[in-house]
Amino acid sequence: MEQSFIMVKPDGVQRNLVGDIVQRFENKGYTLAAAKLMSIPRETAEKHYAELKDKPFFNSLISFITSGPVFAMIWEGENVITEARKMMGTTNPLEAAPGTIRGDYAVQVGMNVIHGSDSPESAEREMNLFFSKDEIQ
Ligand code: ATP
Ligand code: MG
Repeated sequence: MEQSFIMVKPDGVQRNLVGDIVQRFENKGYTLAAAKLMSIPRETAEKHYAELKDKPFFNSLISFITSGPVFAMIWEGENVITEARKMMGTTNPLEAAPGTIRGDYAVQVGMNVIHGSDSPESAEREMNLFFSKDEIQ
């Protein structure tokens, strides 16, 4: 069954949105395969966002994502990679539809509450970057 790497970012953890976000994925019918609260080492953050390293916002992105604990998860189920991206809403929360996580909870592109893998290749890479095999059910 398909799996995706989903992460509540430091703003979402600090604002107590973990419970709501977990609830949304449970309600949708997805199954939790792994979860942990963690601080991301700078090296891991740089690997995670490696494809953005030439963007002007890269340094602030890395500072933000390492600024406090994140809630890292693996969710499993039918078409979960694409569906999770729909549930999250667009990258810029001001363009995200109401009812989506970013549409409901964020206004700044740099603090948009949640990350979700954007392809099967990213999902595989990100799950391996954040979780060891024995942490996954
Ligand atoms: P994520 O990978 O975090 O799930 P995403 O896939 O929707 O988000 P990406 O293009 O991968 O978007 O960008 C990663 C993150 O970089 C975004 O979530 C956002 O916080 C930040 N970001 C993207 N574009 C901008 C921008 N123009 N200005 C500031 N930050 C940005
Ligand atoms: Mg992305």
